[in-house]
Amino acid sequence: MPHLNENFLKLEKNYLFINIAKKVNAFAAANPDADIIRMGIGDVTQPIARCVIDAMKKGADEMAVKETFKGYEDSGTGYDFLKEAISGYYKSFGVDIKPEEIRVNDGAKSDCGNIVDIFGDDNTVLITDPAYPVYVDTNRMNGRKVIFADSNEENGFAAMPDSGVHADLIYLCSPNNPTGSVYTEQQLKAWIDYAIKNDAIIIYDSAYEAFITEEGIPRSIFAVEGARHCAIEMCSLSKTAGFTGMRCGYTVIPDELCAEAGDGSMVKLTDLWGRRQGSKFNGVSYPVQCAAAAVFSEEGLKQTAENIKYYQRNAKVIADALDEMGIKYTGGKNSPYIWFKCPNGMGSWEFFDKLLEEANVVGTPGAGFGKNGEGWFRLTAFGDAERTKEAMERFKKLKF
Ligand code: PLP
Repeated sequence: MPHLNENFLKLEKNYLFINIAKKVNAFAAANPDADIIRMGIGDVTQPIARCVIDAMKKGADEMAVKETFKGYEDSGTGYDFLKEAISGYYKSFGVDIKPEEIRVNDGAKSDCGNIVDIFGDDNTVLITDPAYPVYVDTNRMNGRKVIFADSNEENGFAAMPDSGVHADLIYLCSPNNPTGSVYTEQQLKAWIDYAIKNDAIIIYDSAYEAFITEEGIPRSIFAVEGARHCAIEMCSLSKTAGFTGMRCGYTVIPDELCAEAGDGSMVKLTDLWGRRQGSKFNGVSYPVQCAAAAVFSEEGLKQTAENIKYYQRNAKVIADALDEMGIKYTGGKNSPYIWFKCPNGMGSWEFFDKLLEEANVVGTPGAGFGKNGEGWFRLTAFGDAERTKEAMERFKKLKF
């Protein structure tokens, strides 16, 4: 019999969305007439821009013609036309990334999890708490030591490094899921300085960069000085362009980024990651890459921006209602997530029950994202505009 990777048995059971579904199903069965509004899951709802789908269809048609048919993609890192489009997109917000530094993938989740394959299991991994659960789980699966930097009310849910603590790998996410908070340029610089001092690598998740509206909030860690010497960035078209069901993202590893091997030699991380992907990943389908490239065309960016504005208007509806009720929150401005303090010192799950039972609105208890999430709650702006307004009207009528 094979031996199991027993680290899997030690993982915390991820009951969050299962528990939510159970509670909502039980409530719906007991109250068949209840008009339930779901604002819990972080999935998009607006359809993909027409020009993006047209590009995908054109790519699919090319597969049916001998002269334009495509089999395996030679490099497995993404077609040049897409990597050039992504490089141009970075340039549009002032960041220089060469097409060769970009690797196209099937979404940010896979690479956020898989990237640790190139690092030893004896590294200490620092993760902000609360966090997107993949960061913790993927490292615990390999038995790595995980430590946390507290994101909390005092620091506006933007954890900063502690110079007395050493880490080898650091996960940062801005705009953040679940808290909607963002790092300023100065705050990112402090993390970069900390990483360089500790010879650490930052794994930076910018999946929600397209939601940034405020000046001075970097859309990429590579907008900040020093990042090319200590950071890897993961981004995705899931939230930028509604690709959660299409699957396409990209990872950037600067050409000069190195780590020291046991024999003292310096190893380029892009080479190690290329070796890993070359063995285990065969690339993204051609029609999807055609669609992804169309996202970054002038028309694609215009049409996609409309969807983002739609969600941003929802976020404002949620934020305005919380302002009116005097409830503290982060997010909403540069993020589709609004993270608020449960009224009257209620626990996350206690508030979940009240919101479901009395307003028939479903959200996500913050406690599911880490210890600092207890007493906090996440609503998403990815829903329908009228339903979002209706949900917040019901919320405002709750008595605490
Ligand atoms: N990173 C964060 C912070 C997310 O919230 C998500 C999805 O919700 C992802 C990455 C994964 O996105 P993808 O659909 O690209 O795998």
